[in-house]
Amino acid sequence: MQALSLTQVAEITNGKLMGNPELAHLPVSEVISDSRKVFKNNQSLFFALSGPFNNAHLYIPELQEKGIQAFVVSDPSSLNNTGAFILVEDTREALQKLAAYYRAQFSYPVVGITGSNGKTIVKEWLHDILSPKHHLVRSPKSYNSQIGVPLSVLLMDESHQLGVFEAGISKKGEMHRLEKIIAPNIGLFTNIGDAHQENFDSTRQKIREKLELFKNCDTLVYRNDVAEVKEEIEDFLAKNKAIGLSWSLENAAADIQFLEKKLQNSTKIEAKHGGKNDFFSIPFTDDSALENACHSFACLIALKLDPEAYIEEFKKLQALAMRLEIKQGINNCLLINDYYNSDLNAFSIALSVLKQQANQHHLEQVVVLSDIQQSGQEKADLYREVNALLEQWGIHKLIGIGPDILSCRNAFSMKGEFYPDRESFQKQFNRTQFAAAAVLIKGARNFEFEKISSLLQEKAHQTVLEINLNAIVHNLGVYRQLVKPETKIMAMVKAFSYGSGDVEVARLLQYQNIDYLAVAVADEGILLRESGIHVPIVVMNPEKEAFQLMIDHNLEPNIYSLQLLEDFAWATSIAGRKNFPVHLKLDTGMNRLGIKNLGEILSAVNFLKTNDRLRLQSVFSHLAGSDDPQLDAFSFEQMERFETFCDSIERELPYAFDKHILNTAGIERFSSKQFDMVRLGIGLYGISQTGLPLENISSLLSTISQIKTVETNETVGYNRRGEIRSKSKIAIVPLGYADGIDRKLGNGKGSAFVNEQRVPIIGNICMDMLMLDITEVAAEIGDRVEFFGPNLPISELARTLDTIPYEILTGISQRVKRIYLQE
Ligand SMILES: *Cc1c(COP(=O)(O)O)cnc(C)c1O
Repeated sequence: MQALSLTQVAEITNGKLMGNPELAHLPVSEVISDSRKVFKNNQSLFFALSGPFNNAHLYIPELQEKGIQAFVVSDPSSLNNTGAFILVEDTREALQKLAAYYRAQFSYPVVGITGSNGKTIVKEWLHDILSPKHHLVRSPKSYNSQIGVPLSVLLMDESHQLGVFEAGISKKGEMHRLEKIIAPNIGLFTNIGDAHQENFDSTRQKIREKLELFKNCDTLVYRNDVAEVKEEIEDFLAKNKAIGLSWSLENAAADIQFLEKKLQNSTKIEAKHGGKNDFFSIPFTDDSALENACHSFACLIALKLDPEAYIEEFKKLQALAMRLEIKQGINNCLLINDYYNSDLNAFSIALSVLKQQANQHHLEQVVVLSDIQQSGQEKADLYREVNALLEQWGIHKLIGIGPDILSCRNAFSMKGEFYPDRESFQKQFNRTQFAAAAVLIKGARNFEFEKISSLLQEKAHQTVLEINLNAIVHNLGVYRQLVKPETKIMAMVKAFSYGSGDVEVARLLQYQNIDYLAVAVADEGILLRESGIHVPIVVMNPEKEAFQLMIDHNLEPNIYSLQLLEDFAWATSIAGRKNFPVHLKLDTGMNRLGIKNLGEILSAVNFLKTNDRLRLQSVFSHLAGSDDPQLDAFSFEQMERFETFCDSIERELPYAFDKHILNTAGIERFSSKQFDMVRLGIGLYGISQTGLPLENISSLLSTISQIKTVETNETVGYNRRGEIRSKSKIAIVPLGYADGIDRKLGNGKGSAFVNEQRVPIIGNICMDMLMLDITEVAAEIGDRVEFFGPNLPISELARTLDTIPYEILTGISQRVKRIYLQE
């Protein structure tokens, strides 16, 4: 961003400048809000954005240590005399005010995009179509929220000729703020779907709320084919100054008529507008790509550009991998593939992720970078700027590929290797060059850096369990909305977080300010502590042999018997500890671990009353059938028994303790029994009993290792069980029952998803591989195969196998590598 002084920022945000007076004139050229993605830049201003679950003020001391000097805060107790502070009422509002002020400095056109689906892809496509001829600024990734939008707008500067920003809302009243920040001249409404419907009275109301973004637009681009959208927009246009630019694929009266013809791998489109006909084609055949392409085309017209000049770019459009991909590489390397276009903003985001990953795993930081194209900047300036970024993020080594970066090699100050093209890099490539490094691979499309990633990628086992960390955050948010603000949440991360890996999930939950974590055995807890997890952890099944280690690591036991209570008290006295928190488990009908009769419960309480080594942190019980409506009478009995027990304990114990009984299904079904805490398990991992809008978090993926043709009368696999009726094409996939795929899925009972189609498993499943009948599908060696995930729900697989999703999730063997996706 273009620099402003702290004094100016204070004025714009109605804040009070405090702290070290010598810093008052510090220029600010970067605004940050994520404490994890910070690296020393003495012109950064940190906004301490505090949501209900994350108090960013807590990170200030740590950030000051990292060299950040300036902060916008709302909590006066976070001030000190070393840093510069702007004290405001509400930090989010301050960020929004700053962005709105900043936006108003620029007079070039800005396109604002909203709607339920397609915002990011239309924005990215507009960028791809326009960037060869125009210098654009756009929202990074899908930064479209109350915080993402201001951060995007702050990326504008004088060198740009056009801005493209997306705006997303999840409830009423939000768009009005985003309108002030983006202040678009041209509006684009993509479409309307079901997302966030629970927060709106009706679909029409949701449309109207979204249209708020276009209140001051000159032109509004929209599709005319859906009655609700058409009527609401026409009504909106009648009341506001914007002029509509409508388009149709269904022959409706509109400013632009599109006619389409789907071919094998592409779609030909004819656009009739203003007495003119343009022809273009896109390399997709699906309806949503078609709609997104038509929006992009219509936007060119809204921008008063001649579409004919951009037709070639439509042919080159690509689907978006909306994220960075992190993979295990050779020789202990970690690969980060960045599929975003290689402009400097996106590059800076990728570098922050690189830094984060490298620190976490103690790795060197290496960047493989191609020429940066279409930046509109002088070569020498551009690469000087790239070098500054690389230095800022502490990159150890750069591998530059392409004629431009090669010719500017003197601009770089770190260790470097340079090649004129990818082929010459590949020719000299030697596996030993890469070891114990985090490697960011970022190339413009035509450099085909996927070939470099495939050289560096670990190939020992092609089967992975892909975990989407963003989806876990989403799911946590869904449950947070169901529980009262004061109710704590304990996240169950036992059994490697239901199979999805341990440390990464726990780390994420800690960042999301989870109140408690629960593991099954002490070893799991120790591993978490050793990886820097400091939130309270309960061990559900504490073993006497591990008591000393548990105490050393502050792991709190679930106390389910008097014997255990006495033994643990003894261990704490040996360790010389006082008030060590323990959790008392009552058995109210499950007949598993827990104390069942009142006499024993009271003995335990008496023991605790007179023992200063231990402190009763919570009392809890577990429901046997919270997911089953037929057992509701029993569940209520359990909850009643629990309350009676708790009352008795409360009468005896001189201090207060937390009470909890609900697991995931309980949270969904018995919301009045949340007490002080709930224990969230399977819901976090994407499975809801009552159909909550959760996201899938884990996908079991593999690849095709070989394809063969099998003739009638031949058979496939062990015991010749895979019978062939007519000439078939068979794919062999490196996933077997030793990986945790149930052998009962063989012989057609189970299926997989290959290139948009379901295909049956043929023959018996082997220990390390299985075979698919792909006769009906166009597929090649190396193609991806999904066994469960977004296309094949885990709950469906559980039904096929007559089991529960828990068993499927936790049954994937530890040899299957977990890889994590996070935006
Ligand atoms: C595993 C477990 C939970 C979580 O159950 P979900 O059904 O996965 O939500 C809660 N409480 C206890 C005691 C558990 O062992």
